[in-house]
Amino acid sequence: MARAVRYPPSSMTGVSIINLVKKFGSTVAVAGVDLWVEAGTLFFLLGPSGCGKTTLLRMIAGFETPNSGMIRFGDRDVTKHPPEKRDAGMVFQGYALWPHLSVFENVAFGLRVRKVPNADLKRRVGEALELVQMNGYEERKPTQLSGGQQQRVALARALAFRPSVLLLDEPLSNLDAKLRLEMRSEIRRIVDDAQITTIYVTHDQEEALSLADQMAVLRDGKVVQTGGPRDLYDKPNCRFTASFLGETNFVEGTVESVGSDGTTVASPLGRLRSSRVLENSAVGDTISLSLRPEALRIIDPTNDATKAPAGWNRAATTLTRSMFLGETAQLELKGEGDTKLKVLELHPRVLRSTGCSLEVAIDPADVVLLSE
Ligand code: ATP
Repeated sequence: MARAVRYPPSSMTGVSIINLVKKFGSTVAVAGVDLWVEAGTLFFLLGPSGCGKTTLLRMIAGFETPNSGMIRFGDRDVTKHPPEKRDAGMVFQGYALWPHLSVFENVAFGLRVRKVPNADLKRRVGEALELVQMNGYEERKPTQLSGGQQQRVALARALAFRPSVLLLDEPLSNLDAKLRLEMRSEIRRIVDDAQITTIYVTHDQEEALSLADQMAVLRDGKVVQTGGPRDLYDKPNCRFTASFLGETNFVEGTVESVGSDGTTVASPLGRLRSSRVLENSAVGDTISLSLRPEALRIIDPTNDATKAPAGWNRAATTLTRSMFLGETAQLELKGEGDTKLKVLELHPRVLRSTGCSLEVAIDPADVVLLSE
């Protein structure tokens, strides 16, 4: 049954970022970023440490001034507005709750700054605490709360004045692994209940893949690729996105033929067929292939159930290492030309010994072609 939520949804506002640049001395933290965040969606900025994601988020919040470019909330140009005039609520990495203030006063803070009358203020703090399921904790101090509860209060504080945009900077990084998983789905629920445009910064690809409506992968201050999680995982446009979003095997190859039904590539593993076509690729081009460990299937000649369907690529390999992990096993294989392959085997039943010969197979649909 759907939970009755009293928190009134904000009017939804999209965010546009146009050619945004931020330099700190000679360091270019954000190097000309263009993004469109659709109203009401949960949008992730994902990238390794130092790629500029926090700087980008702080510019959207108004805590940093860009050197050039524009930020729009809906059709409002907010580039030069101070944070309190932007209508954006932010949750900081360490929560930044005031330790001397009660939960109530922490959540009320933004409303007091905005001079909301007392009766209204009380109601809105109640609504925000209900949204994050923290009603009943009003009188406690932040030090009397668990990490997850502090996280909820920080979210309530950011949402209490009903901003049209919510900004989250690595909101789960201070929590232990179990709580992080729990809060992941809580954040999704809160964002959905509040119906608020949310921009979420993380370096954790699993967090982004599991929660995002849309995401942007950043590297060295630039957007490398944008799209939905499945799209980016299945159709990375470069080695950086392919490897940042999960483990993969890269194999170099030379294009042998290109047609409307796919591409054939000569590789150390033999001739590999992909049902994909790389834009502007031509016979003779050197390209990379990305083969996900979970897309590679071990063929067991004694077990008909593992037979590769017709048309799949096959390669002969030798097992160099195997690690049993319960529900899965991670296998390391060596193919022709010393090609190393990692394979993820689900529900491993057979104990395999190092040095044994194994044939692997992969669907042409899972052979990803990359030009860089
Ligand atoms: P992390 O995940 O480690 O927080 P990030 O992707 O959020 O990294 P930023 O914090 O945005 O990256 O930093 C981008 C670059 O800008 C880095 O090289 C960083 O050292 C630099 N930088 C960020 N803030 C400042 C500052 N106030 N003064 C000087 N350089 C800065």
